[in-house]
Amino acid sequence: MTRHVTDYNLIAATKYANGGSRADSAPMDIERIFGENAFGLEEMKSRLPKSVYQSIVATVEKGQPIDLTIADTVALAMKEWAVERGATHYTHWFQPLTGTTAEKHDSFITPNKGGGAIAHFSGKDLIQGEPDASSFPSGGLRATFEARGYTAWDPTSPAFIVENRDGSYLAIPTVFASWNGEALDHKTPLLRSMDAVDRQARRVLRLFDVKDVHKVTATVGAEQEYFLIDEEYYYRRPDLVTCGRTLFGAKPPKGQELEDHYFGSIPDRVLSCMLEVEKELYRLGIPVKTRHNEVAPSQYEIAPIFETTNIAADHQQITMLTLQRVARNHGMVCLLHEKPFAGVNGSGKHNNWSIGTDTGMNLLEPGDNPHDNMQFLFFCAAVVRAVHRHQDLLRISVASADNDHRLGANEAPPAIISIFLGEQLEDVFRQLEKGPAKSSKQGGLLGLGSAVLPHLPRHAGDRNRTSPFAFTGNKFEFRAVGSSQSISFPNIVLNTIVAESLDEMATMLEGKLKGQKKNRKTFEAAVADVLQEVIHASKTVIFGGDNYSEAWHKEAEKRKLLNLRTTMDALHHLLDGKNLALFSRFAVLSESELRSREDIYVDQYFKKVNIEGETTEAIARTMILPAAVRYLNDLQVSAGVSKGVAATAKDVAAKVDALCTGIERLSKQNRELGGDTVHEKAHHVWKNVIPAMTEVRAAADALEKVVAHDYWPMPTYRDILWVK
Ligand code: ADP
Ligand code: MG
Repeated sequence: MTRHVTDYNLIAATKYANGGSRADSAPMDIERIFGENAFGLEEMKSRLPKSVYQSIVATVEKGQPIDLTIADTVALAMKEWAVERGATHYTHWFQPLTGTTAEKHDSFITPNKGGGAIAHFSGKDLIQGEPDASSFPSGGLRATFEARGYTAWDPTSPAFIVENRDGSYLAIPTVFASWNGEALDHKTPLLRSMDAVDRQARRVLRLFDVKDVHKVTATVGAEQEYFLIDEEYYYRRPDLVTCGRTLFGAKPPKGQELEDHYFGSIPDRVLSCMLEVEKELYRLGIPVKTRHNEVAPSQYEIAPIFETTNIAADHQQITMLTLQRVARNHGMVCLLHEKPFAGVNGSGKHNNWSIGTDTGMNLLEPGDNPHDNMQFLFFCAAVVRAVHRHQDLLRISVASADNDHRLGANEAPPAIISIFLGEQLEDVFRQLEKGPAKSSKQGGLLGLGSAVLPHLPRHAGDRNRTSPFAFTGNKFEFRAVGSSQSISFPNIVLNTIVAESLDEMATMLEGKLKGQKKNRKTFEAAVADVLQEVIHASKTVIFGGDNYSEAWHKEAEKRKLLNLRTTMDALHHLLDGKNLALFSRFAVLSESELRSREDIYVDQYFKKVNIEGETTEAIARTMILPAAVRYLNDLQVSAGVSKGVAATAKDVAAKVDALCTGIERLSKQNRELGGDTVHEKAHHVWKNVIPAMTEVRAAADALEKVVAHDYWPMPTYRDILWVK
């Protein structure tokens, strides 16, 4: 009989001390290395003719369409730079709707028939690619006979070098679209949504007599949570390898209750991994800034300084790839799943979002004078209105089978979308809703910045960790985003819904000013009216209390806020008329593009849960049940001589029976499909496979607590979470 060996703890614990780390020991000179692996503006400036460089700057900084006649020149400079840095290949790097990144490499070198090789990379190769990409999900946008997808260079996001010990390649950020221009990726609609918010924000600024702004940019800083565990454990857990999360695991005697991990000193091996990650990211020009231990054991966080949204989104993807790659150099595996371990905190991504001007103004930062404050309140109210009106879209933008395990648990925001403003700002909004009548007593209308209202919160001190969407002094933090997902869709939604609010509020303001002479007094009165109406219509979404509490769930129901508990509840709303109209009105996603997304999200949900169902069955049947039975057999041997052993055997036998029953139920559900369409299949796994999996897990976890440890076929939470 084979017994399970448990010395993996020793292997995991001693690996680092045995020199598992290959981190470069030279001290890091951040200034020297920052951006050396990215073909950013600085590099372009030194390598391109002035006119070409200026043309690129006009595209990157002012949003002007790229001048295609410069492509050959840029391509040549880019290739020379990349080859100098050791690159032999290039790839158009894009973000298909799977939420990950994709690349197909081409060599710079074209082999010559007569021997030798010539380096070749033209403007055409830079601007457009044609990967045979028929296997990427298109949600019906492409029939197989027109399966080709096209990639097109995004000159606003710097190309970069990906290094491997044995060679390097150049990655060129691109969009990915079908032959008729329909977006098959996340980047295309993200860029469109940035345009939408730019246009509408500038329109509002013109009404506020701000005339020197040429571009408004949505900015994002995404804080990333992740787990690092020893690879020894990872490869002994088929559930982690196949699904990214544990499908089994009893609660360990010590979880996170001592709170001894949060902000604790960073274990040596982990720190050395973080340092290498940061170094790699600095070299790519990614401005990572903070690192710390998170709440759960073995959980950590990395956060960058904010950047323009599409660059932040690209950099976020690179950060996830880098974390996963570098962890292996240290004998660890980085888990990005939203809930790798039940019973301890899961991981999210806090999407900090704001809008700023090319003149350096943050439009969500309270100003120093009444006029600026009025403008701030206008933009802030636009966000409140957007969140209120599009709770469904925000919820959908973070919906996935993985995030379902996290949202609504007592560690992450609930599925109910509300907005936290902080006590002071909430109070200001309350007063604004009462309207100008009261404030006008004070002379100056609204009395903004004067006696009636408290000073607006600059860098607000108050925090609310339970809100899904919180104002944090000069930006909003969307906290429901999942740790493994692309931040693109949440930001597409944010940009578009705020663009809509700004559009409608600008129209309201113009309406109120119509036929009046515009002076300070009439303008302030008109703004006050708009704010009053907007706040009145949207105020139910403002909530400053404990979002985890049962009381809030009841209160939210009274306020008629949506509570879309699971992915399938949420996705159901994506194609509502309101949403189709919104995305097409701002030319962010056409009807067919939105339909394709709905189709893909439902399909991904089905596939994810389906794989989990099959994996649960396989592990339970072929690993856990045999282990429990072996243990039971051993117990039987001594049951005759010990009452205690007999009782234990009886207990184990009952638990084994429960497991067998669970496995049979799950097996039946796994074999069924629920229907032919992807929606029917997704509905089936949601309603039938998930409960059956839960039952199997409960039975298996009960066994884990009684079966002899050396019989147990996998490392347990107790092993995995604490050995570093
Ligand atoms: P906090 O204490 O609120 O977490 P930090 O200053 O640590 O604030 O910022 C958290 C994240 O928010 C960082 O990634 C930061 O770069 C980002 N951030 C700050 N200002 C903005 C902004 N104007 N737009 C987008 N993100 C921002
Ligand atoms: Mg934060």
